[in-house]
Amino acid sequence: MRILIRSIVCGSTIATLLGGCASATPDERAIDALNARLSDAVLASDGDAYLAGVDQTDPYFAHESRYLANAIEKDAAPAFSLKRRGRAYADGDALVAPVRAKWQPSEKGSARSTEFDARFTKGPDGAWRYAGAQWETTVSTDPRIRVYATPDLAVEAELVRSAYARVVAPVEAFFGTAMPDLPPVKIYRDLAHIQFSITPTYDPPLGGWYEPGESIKMLWRSRRSAESIERVIAHELGHAMYEYIGAGADATPWWAHEGVAESAASSVHPRLDRVNERLGKLKGEDKLVEFEFLAVFDDDTFMEQRLAYPMGHSMVAYVLDRFGRERGFAWLVDLDDVGVDGASRTHLGLPFAELDEAWRGSLQVPEPEPDAGADA
Ligand SMILES: [Zn+2]
Repeated sequence: MRILIRSIVCGSTIATLLGGCASATPDERAIDALNARLSDAVLASDGDAYLAGVDQTDPYFAHESRYLANAIEKDAAPAFSLKRRGRAYADGDALVAPVRAKWQPSEKGSARSTEFDARFTKGPDGAWRYAGAQWETTVSTDPRIRVYATPDLAVEAELVRSAYARVVAPVEAFFGTAMPDLPPVKIYRDLAHIQFSITPTYDPPLGGWYEPGESIKMLWRSRRSAESIERVIAHELGHAMYEYIGAGADATPWWAHEGVAESAASSVHPRLDRVNERLGKLKGEDKLVEFEFLAVFDDDTFMEQRLAYPMGHSMVAYVLDRFGRERGFAWLVDLDDVGVDGASRTHLGLPFAELDEAWRGSLQVPEPEPDAGADA
């Protein structure tokens, strides 16, 4: 609360009446210079320069920062600034200061901004570095379960912590193995903040996010039910565990990643029947797509590619059911090394085209509705 009040008062009319804010301390000036360097690095698409200003001690934040650095090297953000908005205060050896980030994801994307309390740490070389948002941590009785949230989301953090604790066992049972380290969950209040934390060049809306080695990011929505929280965490944990058992981040088709994650979520709240029912209807309308079209996630065609979730889910379930868990998981893990066709021939004894055809054949097209008006 202290931070919030300070950030509002400093620079406001009230502050001016009270004699204004004291001028920046040397450490605050060093943080301001660091923020300017980070901003320049983003604008120059210079990932190395960005990472030089980031504290990479925490392995999850280090992964997240490297993802961002790679992303800005590929796509430039036409506008970006990170600025301190109020006084910094000490938290142990670190400094915490309210900041505002303003940016534009792409030439055609609209401008965005977010404000949050950022953490800055001093390295052994005496230089300040950006350490991400200032989090409060909630740890479960299972020490693998950690939830990071800002102090204003303490109640929500507890809901997420208990949901996380409930989904770990069914998800681990689905994979038939346990993970020694579970990714922490970070809860964000606003969409712009979660987008900013991924990369300032990320545009689409999202409710959750997970990349290999990163924490699970979750956008807090008011009135989220316990079931929806559990589904989001189980889905993202499914991604983490699929990589843990051997999926390749890039080479494994995207539909397989989403299919496994949806299957993990379905191990907590089953919905395969509903998914197959929907796909059967789409089959009847000739609206199913080729798996090839769902192999690589593409920002530009994301809306047309959303069938990766139900089609992936249904295909993964079909393979596990028809060929058994052992062969099914061997197939899933090998998709990245030998491709879908090679893995299908090796582990399931048939080419992928045949598997695809059999899967499509398993979907029930609903009976046409009787024409109620015919005899009326
Ligand atoms: Zn996913």
